Order: sequence, then C-alpha cells, then structure tokens
Amino acid sequence: MKDLKLAGLASEKGTSAIEVNGVAIGGKEIILMGGPCAVESSNQMSKSAETVKKAGGKILRGGVFKPRTSPYSFQGLGQEGLNYLVQAAKEQDLLCVTEVIDTLSLDLVADKVDIIQIGARNMQNFELLKLLGKINKPIILKRGLSATIEEWLLAAEYIMAAGNPQVILCERGIRTYEPSTRNTLDLSAIGVAKELSHLPVIVDPSHAAGRRDLISSLSKAAIAAGADGLLIEMHPNPAEATSDGPQSLYPEQFVQLAAELGVVAKSVKRVFECGGQGDKETLESLRTQIDGIDQAIIESLAARMKIVRKVGDQKRLDRVKDTNREKEIIQRLVNLATELQLSPELVKKVYPVIFEFGVQSQIKSKLASDKELELAIYPMGSK
Ligand code: PEP
Ligand code: MN
Repeated sequence: MKDLKLAGLASEKGTSAIEVNGVAIGGKEIILMGGPCAVESSNQMSKSAETVKKAGGKILRGGVFKPRTSPYSFQGLGQEGLNYLVQAAKEQDLLCVTEVIDTLSLDLVADKVDIIQIGARNMQNFELLKLLGKINKPIILKRGLSATIEEWLLAAEYIMAAGNPQVILCERGIRTYEPSTRNTLDLSAIGVAKELSHLPVIVDPSHAAGRRDLISSLSKAAIAAGADGLLIEMHPNPAEATSDGPQSLYPEQFVQLAAELGVVAKSVKRVFECGGQGDKETLESLRTQIDGIDQAIIESLAARMKIVRKVGDQKRLDRVKDTNREKEIIQRLVNLATELQLSPELVKKVYPVIFEFGVQSQIKSKLASDKELELAIYPMGSK
C-alpha cells in the first residue's frame, strides 16, 4: 500500500504509542474506555465516570452529537451534554472522548475533550478528516460500516497527511450477511492493521455485537488478538438509555469484565490493572463481583422462563407438569453441582421452586389462550 506514507511508516518497529495527558495508548498497558452511547444527564455521567474509575478505566466516553440512522431518533444534547461529560471526567480524574460530526461540532469540542472520535458513518468524510489534521489532539478513527482495511488506513492517512499524526484506529464491527449480531467483529483486522501500520488499534465490541451478552467474551478475544484498548458502552440504567441500551453493559458487568481482563492481558504480555488495585481482593471488589453474578443469574432465569412458556404452548393442559423430566434435570444438576463443589442440597431446594413457577406460568398462559379461543368461537354474549 504505497499511499500509506505516514500511517504505514515503521510498522516493522511495532506500534507507536500515543500519549495523551498521562495515558499512553499503544504501549504495554491495555487502555479501557467506557461510558454511555449518548450523554443524557449530569447524574448519568457522574455514575458512569465512577464506574469507569472503579474498573480501572482511563477514559470516559459519551456522545453529544449522535449521527443516528433515523432522523427521528435522539440526536444528542450538544453543548449541554459536553459540559456533563467534561465535568464527570474531571470529578474522577479521567480523560474524555466524544464524537464530532462536522465543522460546527468540531469547533465546539476541540478545546474541551482529550480525544476526538470520528464515527463509522464519517470515516470517509474527507473534508472533515482534513480538518482533523489541523487539530493537536488524538483522533479515534472508527472503521466504516463496510470499509476495507485499506480504506480505513487511507482515512487515517488523510488525517496524518493534513498534519495530525495522532490517530488511533478502532475496529467496531463490519456489515456482513449475518443478522444475529448487529455487525460482525473483524478480529483479524487488528493483526492486519498492525502489520500494515504503526498506529494503535482499539476495539469497540459494543457496536460490533449490538447485544450485551457477547461483550465480555469479545473484549477478551480482542485483547488476545492484539488490541491496545477497548471502547465499551456502559450505562447506569440501560433499560432507560436513549440509544444503544441493549448493547450497554450494566455498571456491575463493566467492573466484572475489567476484573477478568488482567489475566488475558498477561497471557499476551500486556498489562491491565482493574481499579488500580491489581489482584487485591477488597470487600468492595468481591461484592461487585457478586453483583455481576446475581445480575447474570436473573437474566438467565428470565431467559429460561421465556423458553418454558414456549414449551407450554406445545403441551396439553393436563400434561403441563412432567415429573420424570423434573427428576432427570435435578439429577443432572446435582451431579454438576458436586463436580463444581457446590452443595447438591442447594439444587434440590432451588429447582423445585423454579419448576413450580414454570408450571404456573404455563398453566396461566394456556388458560389465557383458551379464553381467547373461546372468545373467537363464541363472541361476547353469543353463547
Ligand atoms: C458510537 O460510538 O456511539 C457510535 C455511533 O459508533 P459507530 O460510529 O462505530 O457506529
Ligand atoms: Mn452507540
């Protein structure tokens, strides 16, 4: 790629770290960045910043200008949101990053944030890229929705050729034919970009997956594949988020993930320290881990219940309870519990309760659908 005159330089020497206010991106340390998709309130940002700090993150994210697919979706709080982002980062001694979409937004944020983000939709907005060349701030350049690695690196070259060498590449998933995730995380792009260029590469698993259950494993895979950092969406209350709630981690999950990153980083000769406390297990960090596990238990139970209701639709009302199947399940789980050094008594106590709730909900939904059927056959008053 002969046109990568600057982005491609010295790749044989490895990654050139980008220093920004005491944080080096592309050095030995894995840099964690997190926060909500969109800035919504001062309280939301303070809580997010607290969580990022607790997790050992260095950079707070939050969009104040949102390039949304639909013109009717929330477009961001603009200047007001920028103040919340900057203030929250300051409270926790974090750096902050936000996306710009045009000249106006660039002028507004350039002196206020530590890093500027160019979103996937603007990766080939060449006039904007040229303007970023005149700024003395690192730029996180997201890979375009359907951009090849070459196009992505040439976009970086635009910024560098215009005078700003501080470009951080961000793989955020590309559009493929696979509909079960929002995009497809291109893990090999990390290695390819690093082979062709000396720029740091970070990964955003949130926009790649579009669903929070995959974020933890994708983050670990990204670090194992050579990423220099992670940019992850997290919201104090994802159910209320104005954008990207389903892919945003709960704060407990974000901290839990951070607690698990150190060992992955170490396995590829990198470092990551959760909450700046290394592997030290404080009462607080242990409780945070428990909160994350409890969250996962309830999410799993809710998913189980949904399937149980579907099973109910396929059974006759007098066959809803299946004692033999219940016995089989308990036996299997008792064996598993013993293997995992968990008391089998716990399984024997908890599972009958879970079964009972399942049976009740199947009966309820069957009676409701019988009622509907009866009403369809004999409309009100016709019987
Ligand atoms: C974002 O980071 O909130 C965002 C809009 O990401 P992308 O540009 O990767 O879609
Ligand atoms: Mn988002």
